[in-house]
Amino acid sequence: MHDIVIVGGGPAGISTALHLHAHDPALAGRTVVLEKATYPREKYCAGGIGGRALRDLARIGVTVDVPAVSVATVAMRTPDATLRIAEPEFAKVVRRVEFDHALAKVAMERGITVRQGAAVRDVVPTSDGVRVTLADGETLTAKVVVGADGIGGVTRRALGLPGGTLRAQVIECDTEPVASDLPRDTLLFDWSDRSLHGYGWDFPTLVNGQEKVCRGVYVIRTLGADNVHARLDAYLSARGLRMKDYTLKPFGERGFEATDPISRPRALLVGEAAGIDIATGEGIAQAIQYGALAATTLSRAFATSRFDFDDWRRTVLASRFGRALFARLVLYRAFYLDRARGERALATNPAFLQLFAQDFAGNRLRTRTFIKAALAASPRDVPWLARLTRDTWEGRPAELVGSPRE
Ligand SMILES: Cc1cc2nc3c(=O)[nH]c(=O)nc-3n(C[C@H](O)[C@H](O)[C@H](O)COP(=O)(O)OP(=O)(O)OC[C@H]3O[C@@H](n4cnc5c(N)ncnc54)[C@H](O)[C@@H]3O)c2cc1C
Repeated sequence: MHDIVIVGGGPAGISTALHLHAHDPALAGRTVVLEKATYPREKYCAGGIGGRALRDLARIGVTVDVPAVSVATVAMRTPDATLRIAEPEFAKVVRRVEFDHALAKVAMERGITVRQGAAVRDVVPTSDGVRVTLADGETLTAKVVVGADGIGGVTRRALGLPGGTLRAQVIECDTEPVASDLPRDTLLFDWSDRSLHGYGWDFPTLVNGQEKVCRGVYVIRTLGADNVHARLDAYLSARGLRMKDYTLKPFGERGFEATDPISRPRALLVGEAAGIDIATGEGIAQAIQYGALAATTLSRAFATSRFDFDDWRRTVLASRFGRALFARLVLYRAFYLDRARGERALATNPAFLQLFAQDFAGNRLRTRTFIKAALAASPRDVPWLARLTRDTWEGRPAELVGSPRE
């Protein structure tokens, strides 16, 4: 019998194992990660990793040595303006096929058992643990199972946990750079098409050493079904590119819901199996952060022999990344409820974007920026408030590219 079986060897599963190894090496020695694929395996993803996750990994001595584009600036485009904010150590863009392989290699080098080609077919809770059945019929028993098997994973289903309603459709491709691109150290989130329940993106990337741009469209399906292929076609055309020239990579995403259960006795979910940020679809950093939090939760469970995990959702919500997930959930609702107002707030006052950048990078969220954001969200028909909102912004270190129409 294992102590812990982790289903899924993506960032969430491997981060759980690595953080276990850092905090409780003996427990990590009695843990196995089951990954259905064999590394290097592809994962459709733009590969933008918030600096905070890389710093979390560095704290346990993990640096993932893969080709990457360092990004120091985030840009947000609305119909009225493009705002750019510089934030120290904002992000890196990696290829997931390389990053996930390298991360798993670090885990294996530290002695963690990662079984590749081990597809889990079923997970059944028993009186004193869980029984995990692989596709070839092999059965493993463990005291605890961690579901890190992503959006389509079996663990959540097998445990009878609700599937959740916050879903996104995503499609991406890698193209050559074009003249209208922003500088290569920038991640662009393009919210300029009001009819799109989501955004388009341009992320600089390196494909086999060649400078490319990963472009895609993120559509929140919960707000209405859409044709993502047609959307990507239009997005690329606006940049003078033809969709038929590229390999398309469509996939789905699952958002974190603050009220849905993400654990059962002897089982907890992490990463996209639990739910990530529905507002932007960002999930790599969250997956890594779920792993760090799960490791301390698991270690405590084994120390006290309490395996109900009934407070896992509350533990997530109380953590820094859980609070950020919750804040983005609230903001996503507010933005799409009154999009024109949301866009105006974004375009006229960079405080929101700056808060996002600070959080994405994992830097300190400054109180001043919070106040400015709150002012930006205030009613525009109160003239002194509108003036104050504009006037409190000093323009440092934000840069307004193009000017708002207002
Ligand atoms: C097109 C697209 C672009 C994206 N771009 C970004 C981005 O730029 N930045 C960002 O932060 N996020 C991005 N995301 C989200 C991000 O990719 C995911 O949120 C992230 O990969 C979640 O990590 P995870 O470890 O939870 O799950 P995954 O990365 O999905 O890993 C799950 C692992 O479990 C394995 N598995 C599944 N089922 C089983 C089974 N039955 N048995 C054993 N193993 C199993 C899988 O093979 C996989 O290795 C994007 C997503 C999409 C679809």
